[in-house]
Amino acid sequence: MSDTEITTPSLPEQAAAAAPAPVRFADFGLSPAILRALNEQGYEHPTPIQAQAIPVLLRGRDVMGAAQTGTGKTASFALPIIQMLLPHASASTSPARHPVRALILAPTRELAVQVAENVKAYCKHTPLRATEVFGGMDMKPQTVILKAGVEIVIATPGRLLDHVEQKNISLGQVQMLVMDEADRMLDMGFLPDLQRIINLLPKKRQNLMFSATFSPEIKKLANTFLSDPVTIEVARANKTADTVTQVVYKIAENQKHALIAHLLRQRELKQVIVFSNTKLGASRLARELEREGMKAVAIHGDRSQQERMAALDAFKKNEIDILVATDVAARGLDISDLPCVINYDLPYNAEDYVHRIGRTGRAGASGDAISLYSDKDERLLADIEKLIKQTIKRVEPEGFNPAPTFADERGERRPRRSEDLGRGPAGRAPDRAPRSLGGGGAPRREKVDPWFLKPYEPSKAAAPAPAAPAAASSITKAKPKLAFLLGGAPKGGSL
Ligand code: AMP
Repeated sequence: MSDTEITTPSLPEQAAAAAPAPVRFADFGLSPAILRALNEQGYEHPTPIQAQAIPVLLRGRDVMGAAQTGTGKTASFALPIIQMLLPHASASTSPARHPVRALILAPTRELAVQVAENVKAYCKHTPLRATEVFGGMDMKPQTVILKAGVEIVIATPGRLLDHVEQKNISLGQVQMLVMDEADRMLDMGFLPDLQRIINLLPKKRQNLMFSATFSPEIKKLANTFLSDPVTIEVARANKTADTVTQVVYKIAENQKHALIAHLLRQRELKQVIVFSNTKLGASRLARELEREGMKAVAIHGDRSQQERMAALDAFKKNEIDILVATDVAARGLDISDLPCVINYDLPYNAEDYVHRIGRTGRAGASGDAISLYSDKDERLLADIEKLIKQTIKRVEPEGFNPAPTFADERGERRPRRSEDLGRGPAGRAPDRAPRSLGGGGAPRREKVDPWFLKPYEPSKAAAPAPAAPAAASSITKAKPKLAFLLGGAPKGGSL
């Protein structure tokens, strides 16, 4: 088998996966305790990924799931996990009766929290315990929960390893491993951590991997840790949901903010996520929208965990209408019925477009995806259209009088990764002065606004030594050579 090939499911398995979906959760033979919880969640029918994955997982098979966010993929793995752990469920208070039996790895804190919320809801009528562990928070409260015993742990890789090192958790009895959003975990440089974690697990276990996109690296990872997996795909990889209406507006860079404000007002949009490629851009846009009387908050990697959670919470409670986010910060956010997603910037990575607009049109609801682009983004737009295999409708803004009020300070250099964009090549905050537009529209230099510099001190976790940006944080680690990490040693190198 080649390095990048996924194990092809046998025909009977493919047939099973393609079989007509059971119409009720009860058809899977799930326990009444789970069915009761699903009923309370208001789930009437399994989604296609659930219909396909649940029976296969209940048979104990490894699964490689290609499912985009919003398909119900969390329940597709959480329900079989709960069902299969039920024979071990114990009402005892002894920690020894609650070893970690299922481990779900997620790339971001937000996704870990979201998955944990779902798992807890689904197992609430069982004695099984579930918890989330993620970085950026005090370890102590997590330690107390881990030491009391918990069967299902949803973790970001770095913090999980911290707990392992401190002997707060033992992974020796894990029988089910899930890698959720595996593509994003690789993007974020988690491969070495994943490898270390896999080495701590019992060899005999059931493995599940979910990924919205299938790169050769993902396939290679799948080949190394999945055993004869059944591949389940609910939508073609990189396909955008049919329920999302996509449009693009061509607009000069310096008028993007004014157009966003116009669109938000004109359409009276609430509960909108606006994506920016940079932390700096996200903060500035949120601040400008606030100045215009809108309830907007920025959420990005330099915000503390508490700030991100508070922003998300406020958004979910409708206390704020607009969340301006970078890709990394928004990853895993589960906000159902989101009516609209706006791309203030087109993403540099076309696959991020699919992730972004997956925030809307979820679970069959309709949604709008609006993107702004300028002359310099033609190439990005072409890449996106090639990936999603469709032409996005070009539209002209109606009733829009360009009135730029804010500077677009972003430079021409294309940074490597969206979440690194707030920093220069050596990991420093950008030191260019912001430009603003005068009445004639031509950019002119201005003094640096002190606000501009203040919040963008690299965060502790993200402040790298100039010569070693790869060591900055688990999120910004350089991507190691996959072959090396998966066992192949570099020429003349040693481990
Ligand atoms: P996910 O793709 O796992 O992030 O799920 C997306 C959203 O769909 C979440 O808000 C889930 O609570 C919801 N959901 C999952 N399964 C179902 C279902 N069978 N029926 C209705 N909603 C669901």
